Amino acid sequence: MELKAILSYLACPSCHGDLSIEGEDHPSALLCANCHLRYPIQDGIPLLLASEAQAIDTQPKE
Ligand SMILES: [Zn+2]
Repeated sequence: MELKAILSYLACPSCHGDLSIEGEDHPSALLCANCHLRYPIQDGIPLLLASEAQAIDTQPKE
């Protein structure tokens, strides 16, 4: 099943907000814009676990 198709069933485990895909052709993570967390996708399977979440660096690049 395509990731975009299952995305509508998934929610951020932290805030239950909508998730977006990082990487159009080769999805590498799901992003929560609401709480700025990044959930890695491993072997096509999103790891929607608080313990796997990484904080998104929102600082502008120099
Ligand atoms: Zn969230």
